[in-house]
Amino acid sequence: MVQKVITDRLLRSWLRCRRRAWLDRHGDPGERLWTAHRALALSDQLASFQSLLPQRPGHGVAACAAGAPGVVGLRLRSPGPGGIELQAHPALLERVSGPSVWGEHAYRPVLGRQGRNLTREHRLVLALWGRLLAERQGAPVPQALVVAGAGRGLQRERLTLSGGLQAQLDEVLPRLAAELGRREPPPLVADRKKCVLCGWRGLCDQDAARQGHLSEVSGIGGKRRELLLEQGITSLPQLARSDPEQLAEALAVHGEQHREIAATLVAQARVQASGAPERLRSAPAAGTDPGAAGPLPELATAAGVLLYDIESDPDARDDFLHGFVVVPRTATDWPVRPDPAWRYQPLLALQEHGEARLWQRLRRYLARYPAWPVLHYGETERIALLRLAERQGAREAELAGLRTRLVDVHARLRGHWRLPVNSYGLKAVAGWQGFRWSQAGVDGARCLLWWRQWRRDGGAARLRRIFQYNRDDNLATWAVVRWLLDQTP
Ligand code: SF4
Repeated sequence: MVQKVITDRLLRSWLRCRRRAWLDRHGDPGERLWTAHRALALSDQLASFQSLLPQRPGHGVAACAAGAPGVVGLRLRSPGPGGIELQAHPALLERVSGPSVWGEHAYRPVLGRQGRNLTREHRLVLALWGRLLAERQGAPVPQALVVAGAGRGLQRERLTLSGGLQAQLDEVLPRLAAELGRREPPPLVADRKKCVLCGWRGLCDQDAARQGHLSEVSGIGGKRRELLLEQGITSLPQLARSDPEQLAEALAVHGEQHREIAATLVAQARVQASGAPERLRSAPAAGTDPGAAGPLPELATAAGVLLYDIESDPDARDDFLHGFVVVPRTATDWPVRPDPAWRYQPLLALQEHGEARLWQRLRRYLARYPAWPVLHYGETERIALLRLAERQGAREAELAGLRTRLVDVHARLRGHWRLPVNSYGLKAVAGWQGFRWSQAGVDGARCLLWWRQWRRDGGAARLRRIFQYNRDDNLATWAVVRWLLDQTP
């Protein structure tokens, strides 16, 4: 009978990925990884709720009976279609006028929205909350409320819990129940970018690697995987064995861009299958191409380099930390290993201090190391620094100097090497090269969570961990640089 219970959390998981709901029910909880994304979502939701209803909410059915303006902790249950038992635990209920079993007031459910738009997941979870709440309070729930942001920027959106939404729910619930009753988990989600948010990613990554799942090939997302499946190519080893020209012809019917990418995908699959990196360019004669001195010609004569990494809060469009590591060249060459004596300089960018002050600090700092290349991994740092400089009225000569100094190590790596990695992100590439982050299990989302907690509650230890993470990202960039230097004849 327990297998027939469907909760709002299972519904939410299923709408994100069918396999995820199955694992939530049948998976070994010990294999589920902690993920900062859920904690971030809950802290955002809490901030929205506190802006909507500043007074502390009441708890459970007693608070509903007492007419509290806001209520949390009300557990709802009811029989659903096909013998399912439905259970839900709405995040917040807001009091509205109208009669109910509790008197001259009733409630409606409130949800904190993640992202910019209302999704099917938000709608159906609210529809479930509305349905169960209507039964519990003996009065209809025509609308739900969705909130996002906080303070003066709080956004409110009403959602009509109409018959259409309820019909969708009736269609979804039996499918979900049937899938949870299966012995085997559903397949991996088509677009595995979503997996980064999911606690089951460790388990699913292992499964994907074991199966030689096509999503393991760097460059293959949901759409390309579908096209390959249509061609009868179902795994990484099979793609590695494919003829690139035949594949290009076959994919061309879907658009010229697919024809062009076919050879790259086959080559990437071959490198991953063999485990051996492949050099993309042979070094041309000296003086004919900057590539003559290897992927990083800027380092040939530099006295040192700055490693540079930004930490950001993408929702708030806030680059809150600009971190640098100073790497001087030794008398003979570039250091082989990171040296604990390398200076780390974090520049915190507090929005209340304004952008002009940040720009002046960055400018002064960069001027201390004139002409040293500034190495970063990915385009974020280049875009952010140049845009900041432009907004602050930097002259063209200064902008040109910055453009010359900023070196995107990721772009250079992609231009010169094909690696046996399933992603060219810093974590995968530096990890493949043997680099280890000093704080296990920490990622950008965890760092962002610490940042938001530090902004709210302070705590020197949180700030130290953010700096440590940022410094490690810089050292990981150095690991990639060092590897590139080691490959250069
Ligand atoms: S890691 Fe990906 S495939 Fe696995 S359950 Fe989560 S979202 Fe689905």
